[in-house]
Amino acid sequence: MISSELLQGYSKKSDRQLDLLKCPDCGSLHDEAKLSGSCYECDSHIAHKRYSTQATVDYAICSNCSSEVLYTRDNEIGERWEVPGYYCRNCTTILEVKSNGQFVQPEQFLNNSQGSGFEVQAVNSERTKTVAEMFSWSTKVEGVGFWSYQPDSHRVWLASLNNCYCGFVTLDDNDKLIQIWTDPGVRRQDVATMLLEYICETVLPADGELWMNKPTDQGKELFKSLIDSDDKIFGRKVEDKYVRKAIRL
Ligand SMILES: [Zn+2]
Ligand SMILES: [Zn+2]
Repeated sequence: MISSELLQGYSKKSDRQLDLLKCPDCGSLHDEAKLSGSCYECDSHIAHKRYSTQATVDYAICSNCSSEVLYTRDNEIGERWEVPGYYCRNCTTILEVKSNGQFVQPEQFLNNSQGSGFEVQAVNSERTKTVAEMFSWSTKVEGVGFWSYQPDSHRVWLASLNNCYCGFVTLDDNDKLIQIWTDPGVRRQDVATMLLEYICETVLPADGELWMNKPTDQGKELFKSLIDSDDKIFGRKVEDKYVRKAIRL
């Protein structure tokens, strides 16, 4: 169901014994060929043969670009994007995410028990926060040009359909709409519309207006289909005449 190219996981996984560099300071293993000199974990200088060691590591074939990805520190997603797992450095698809001590593929991680219909859930746990980071990551390739989710200043709600997270909406501290995104696999099922309806009816203050960023072309299409003759979307006046004009063009 999920079809974003950055959430495709792996097609095959196995293990292999090979020579790796072992950091003398933190013990993490690195792929010798790809290491540029410093340990990604602790910054120690380790590009030297005497740190070479034999180890058995998992590796997987990326479903999206068929690259071989070793499960070493080099291919961990890392703290920057707050997703515990491994990704393909070639195309950045996420191969696996760590969940309850086990690694699972993205689609499995996105499975939940929210029910078969459309459901909305606020990001309020480690798991939902990781989902928001994964989705925010996915919007990057679609030319949005920024990483939507900033945990310190944004609030995020996740859409769920058929027991699987499939989209999100982001508001900033001032209730301004920052982004709506849905996975291409669930497009044309009104997920974005229902997310927007949820925000307008449940989250915005009683007499609040709808403030939004400059919409993308896809956003314009969505808002144009929803705005009425009073410049309202789900009963909320679209503030900012430039945005209104952009929607109507
Ligand atoms: Zn280290
Ligand atoms: Zn890849």
